[in-house]
Amino acid sequence: MGLLDRGVEIKTPEQIDAMRRAGLVVGRTLELLRGHVRAGITTAELDGIAEDSIRSAGATPSFLGYHGFPATICTSVNDEVVHGIPGERVLAEGDLVSIDCGAIVDGWHGDSAITVSVGPVPAEVEALMAVTEQAMWRGIAAAHLGGRVTDISHAVEQHVRAQGGFGIVEDYTGHGIGSAMHQPPDVPNFGRAGKGPRLVPGLALAVEPMITLGTQETDLLADDWTVVSTDGSWAAHFEHTFTITPEGTWVLTALDGGEQQLSELGVKFGGR
Ligand code: MG
Ligand code: MG
Repeated sequence: MGLLDRGVEIKTPEQIDAMRRAGLVVGRTLELLRGHVRAGITTAELDGIAEDSIRSAGATPSFLGYHGFPATICTSVNDEVVHGIPGERVLAEGDLVSIDCGAIVDGWHGDSAITVSVGPVPAEVEALMAVTEQAMWRGIAAAHLGGRVTDISHAVEQHVRAQGGFGIVEDYTGHGIGSAMHQPPDVPNFGRAGKGPRLVPGLALAVEPMITLGTQETDLLADDWTVVSTDGSWAAHFEHTFTITPEGTWVLTALDGGEQQLSELGVKFGGR
């Protein structure tokens, strides 16, 4: 391990299996929430559904109490990029909501996010969601044993830039994950390939592009959590936690382990 690898936690296969259990709790909770997103529901109601889902699976919400965060999920609506706090806000037809969720099983974390529209949205908003989700998958697909962390960053940026004039938020990044939700290394959503720690078996990373229809610049609201785009442009956020085994790539928070998306991108599936 070189200097750049300092602080990177390498998991055993058994620890990765525990992360898979946490990842499945997160993935199932997000699919449950996706089914509940509709006009008239409050973000606090979504939060309650998430907490019930996580606790009934025998897991613990990662976010609740994290640096004082008061809820189980983050709900970020329209121009809110990330870290929105669930509350009395009522979702309306045409809104866009990003839901970020984390769970702990036996001390091991999973972290994933989806963006869901409330009914039909304009084509540009559909495109925003699609480019953000696909950029996440391109980033994961760019990770190979022996490569480096910013191979992911570069692939995310390349995909977004090729789709047109979207804003790539730089103030927040993906991250290492394992016995804590946020660990070294950072996984930026932009930059040159070939830098940062080496990608080795037992490393686990959360890849999470945050993309807007306008600026890359963000502000923090007075609640000290909610991140918004400075120009009011709408944002999308997708995230998965993944690892690389000697067999291939394993997306720990995807219900199918990422097998379908990875095969479409020509990447070997490494799940158990
Ligand atoms: Mg997250
Ligand atoms: Mg994360």
